[in-house]
Amino acid sequence: MLSTSQLIDFDRNHIWHPYTSTTSPLPVFPVKSAHGTRLILEDGRELIDGMSSWWSAIHGYNHPVLNKTVASQMEKMSHVMFGGLTHRPAVELAARLIELTPASLQKVFFSDSGSVSVEVAIKMAIQYWQGMGNPNKHKLLTIRGGYHGDTFGAMSVCDPVNGMHHLFAAVLPQHYFADAPQCPLGAPWDESDIESLKTLLQAHHQEIAAVILEPIVQGTGGMNFYTPEYLQATRHLCDEYNVLLIFDEIATGFGRTGRLFACEHAEVSPDIMCLGKALTGGYMSLAATLATNQVAEGVCSSESGVFMHGPTFMGNPLACAIAKASIDLLLESPWQTMITQIATQLTKELSVCADFPMVKDVRVLGAIGVIELKEPVNMEMVQKRFVEEGVWVRPFGKLVYVMPPYIINEQELSQLTQAMIKVISE
Ligand SMILES: *Cc1c(COP(=O)(O)O)cnc(C)c1O
Repeated sequence: MLSTSQLIDFDRNHIWHPYTSTTSPLPVFPVKSAHGTRLILEDGRELIDGMSSWWSAIHGYNHPVLNKTVASQMEKMSHVMFGGLTHRPAVELAARLIELTPASLQKVFFSDSGSVSVEVAIKMAIQYWQGMGNPNKHKLLTIRGGYHGDTFGAMSVCDPVNGMHHLFAAVLPQHYFADAPQCPLGAPWDESDIESLKTLLQAHHQEIAAVILEPIVQGTGGMNFYTPEYLQATRHLCDEYNVLLIFDEIATGFGRTGRLFACEHAEVSPDIMCLGKALTGGYMSLAATLATNQVAEGVCSSESGVFMHGPTFMGNPLACAIAKASIDLLLESPWQTMITQIATQLTKELSVCADFPMVKDVRVLGAIGVIELKEPVNMEMVQKRFVEEGVWVRPFGKLVYVMPPYIINEQELSQLTQAMIKVISE
């Protein structure tokens, strides 16, 4: 067995981590196990988790109910192909998703990751317009500051400045970008906020298949929280100009913003919706793209007659069974109260640093707490300091933020916020 230092050395020499260099890698911290809200490092140190492993581990780690679900599903089957076969876990999960998401979403396409669910959504929108006899509608319109994943289609609708556009400009499809919504959540609606999107729709609707955006919270692209009226205005414009509306709820889904899905803040239904991240409570990679019957009919009357996508691990039974169990666990818990308590405590404890000279803004929505700094952090130093403080908080750029598991208690959450305040002050 490798010693801890051999493990770290091997990792350093051979393994790519998200968005990292292999020639000058930053340190990584080896995790031995994880329970509840704690990550346990190889050296025995325990960290309180502030990240939910990127929005996903909403019930914490090593949950007895989810563990039991894994074991019992594994006894039956871990995987079978989805071409020509179906199974109870996929059907039960699809039924749950249809029941919980806006009523018009009636068709479910399972895939393996959030990025792929976005690719699927884009392909559905394009095939839909082909089926409707309108093949010129194949462009997308999105808002700046978005993040939709790392594959090519998804990348092409990520923020053109923060994203990877300049690196891959030669191969990326060119789409339309409206200004990001500026009207903050809770502020009075300002009509001028929608002008940019409206102008682009007016000018280009004949070639636009769909508008794609993250409702209410633009996550990885900058943690922008914006007003529900923006979504209502977008829905009206999409209807007026005959353009589909895609909501990427991969980060916001399953309670994170205080509603089960962020679109509920606006009471707006999309034509297509992407889910991922917290779908399996952080246990496995699984995503889903939901569509209306109208979209499905359009897609299936396109030239091919079928929807042209089908991943090898589509509808993986193990992942579907866990997702169903995770959703049940969430719905059986007093999740609204838990999120409200987290939001109240985050607001109270983070507000003290709003006046700090290096802080640009402090904002909280649901179980998301953000400190936006004026300058980007020194990742290597800050990461190490958080670990020394006994917490797992991973900033990016100017954003130091937490989105803890919903089960976090008051004292643990305080440790997170105190560590955030202490480390940014240094
Ligand atoms: C994380 C994320 C994705 C990509 O999901 P992956 O599972 O990482 O491929 C897409 N959209 C949003 C809003 C996300 O937060």
